[in-house]
Amino acid sequence: MADMLIIGQGPAGVSASLYALRAGLDVILVGKGAGALEKAHMIENYYGLEKPLTGAELYEVGKKQAERLGANLVEDEVTDLFFDGKEFVATGLKGEYRGRACIMATGSARKKTPLPGMAEMEGHGVSYCAVCDAFFYRGKDVAVLGSGEYALHECNELLNVVGSVTLLTNGAEPTAEFTDKVRIDKRKLAGLVGEGTFGGVKFDDGEELKLDGLFVALGSASAMDLARKAGAAFDGGSVVLDKDYMTTVPGLFAAGDCTGGTLQVAVAVGEGAIASLAAIKYLRENR
Ligand SMILES: Cc1cc2nc3c(=O)[nH]c(=O)nc-3n(C[C@H](O)[C@H](O)[C@H](O)COP(=O)(O)OP(=O)(O)OC[C@H]3O[C@@H](n4cnc5c(N)ncnc54)[C@H](O)[C@@H]3O)c2cc1C
Repeated sequence: MADMLIIGQGPAGVSASLYALRAGLDVILVGKGAGALEKAHMIENYYGLEKPLTGAELYEVGKKQAERLGANLVEDEVTDLFFDGKEFVATGLKGEYRGRACIMATGSARKKTPLPGMAEMEGHGVSYCAVCDAFFYRGKDVAVLGSGEYALHECNELLNVVGSVTLLTNGAEPTAEFTDKVRIDKRKLAGLVGEGTFGGVKFDDGEELKLDGLFVALGSASAMDLARKAGAAFDGGSVVLDKDYMTTVPGLFAAGDCTGGTLQVAVAVGEGAIASLAAIKYLRENR
């Protein structure tokens, strides 16, 4: 178990790790690649760069800096997060990672909701968290929207409770190994059925599928998904954060692009520093 578990190896996560490491803490830094920096072809507006770096170069430099100071860097995709009463436990595809405090720094949060009306149906048949909401769909027919490992995790969570699970890939090929208990429908979606309350989906070919619930699991788990699973409070669509970026779950923080606002390296680094300093204080006060 580490003192501090950080999810995300981008500017926010690495910055957070530097403060924790220099405070003498054990840090585990879990990430699944470069995040937003992967697409940034030239960064020249960040302090201290004598000449511009590509995002990929900045990402590598950041990881080496954390490694040099002693961070334990792990390449894995996190699909679940919870507090077991003593520590935070992140479940990845390859293993489980634990820390007494946790900073989520997973980058730009919400994948675009692909269908009109989906946002309004959140809490009325549309959910972003299987472990939180599966119970409400006992014995019912639900679908998971997604195609990768995170969608697989949500399907497996639901299969224990609901009547049936259909995977809606919206035209994508599944990239994970789904059990044959999950019915896979790869057709493109045209929209949702129902007004205010979710009643099913409509495909591009005009056919409709009646459903009781839809669980959105596009791409990988975002900080918002993980915060929900860990029981943090939300206000509208945003996770509630205090001035130090701590959620309503003591010891659980968020930093960087995942908190919204100005999506820039300088801001992510700053938020990582603030969250880390607050997490260090939290750990010292809660030994
Ligand atoms: C095309 C483009 C150009 C840009 N140009 C600039 C620029 O010129 N200047 C500037 O300041 N900013 C620029 N930005 C913005 C900048 O890249 C981001 O603000 C910054 O990278 C945010 O840092 P972050 O640490 O919050 O998130 P990210 O850099 O996105 O890092 C997120 C980390 O979380 C990990 N992660 C996500 N989900 C999971 C999961 N489920 N499990 C495990 N790990 C996970 C990722 O693998 C990654 O390591 C640009 C962005 C883009 C897309």
